[in-house]
Amino acid sequence: MRKRLKELYPDPHLELEFTEPFQLLIAAILAAQESDKKINTVGKEFFKKFGTPQKVVNASLEEIEKVLSSVNFYRRKARLIKRCCEVLLEKFRGKIPTSIEEMVKLPGVGRKTANMVLGGAFGLPALIMDRHVLRVSHRLGLTAEKNPDKAEKELEKVTEPQWRTEISLLLMNHGKRICLARNPVCEKCPLCDLCPSCKTGI
Ligand code: SF4
Repeated sequence: MRKRLKELYPDPHLELEFTEPFQLLIAAILAAQESDKKINTVGKEFFKKFGTPQKVVNASLEEIEKVLSSVNFYRRKARLIKRCCEVLLEKFRGKIPTSIEEMVKLPGVGRKTANMVLGGAFGLPALIMDRHVLRVSHRLGLTAEKNPDKAEKELEKVTEPQWRTEISLLLMNHGKRICLARNPVCEKCPLCDLCPSCKTGI
């Protein structure tokens, strides 16, 4: 399954743009219920003004909200990001932690965001259970769990740690391009013969 998807997506990667873990952390918090494209645009302005946790903490909530105003739920996200940066400074000396146990202590950071940063920015084994990965995993019969945290545990049982990040990114790419939410393009899918949900009945 992995090899077939790798032929289709030779360079699977996150669509959120970042140059360092801090940027991916903030982008991942902002990306909840918002498009990656919007976050990439807003992120450029955000990181120009607030490129470090200290700069975020030094800024007023109003200043942060102003930059984020075109993002869905920007007021809530601005508060979370400010609090997250305060905790980063208080507990982690401004460094992004590299374990899931520490990451989820940050305000606004659940397992999905934590795994996205651990896998995407640090290259650590991480199952990133975003909505695309969850949907494609269901269709492929890899898990029946609806809860992303429980589904992550299920997928852990069937994936070697060294492939987890890559598999997440492959499933994510597949969910955005072929295994679409409303109309999966099964006729173009290289997994059809392995997939219990394939519409073509191969
Ligand atoms: S065969 Fe269809 S439902 Fe199954 S993974 Fe491919 S696109 Fe998705």
